[in-house]
Amino acid sequence: MDGLFARNGFAEDRVWTPQGDYGRYQCETPCTRETWPSRPIVEAALATYDVLTGESGTVPSCPRCGERCS
Ligand SMILES: [Zn+2]
Repeated sequence: MDGLFARNGFAEDRVWTPQGDYGRYQCETPCTRETWPSRPIVEAALATYDVLTGESGTVPSCPRCGERCS
């Protein structure tokens, strides 16, 4: 999901996204069912993104347990 429903006036709690939502991320473990907004981790990755290698200096981690996130 790309968040277009919410950005166009639909109540977020009324939109069902069975295949996930790119606007949210979650713990890979998972330690919780909670999700968080993706924008801050995407902006952090872009700030260190190297166009020559395609690598970024940041790896997102879970705000709750510190494990890797997807
Ligand atoms: Zn976690």
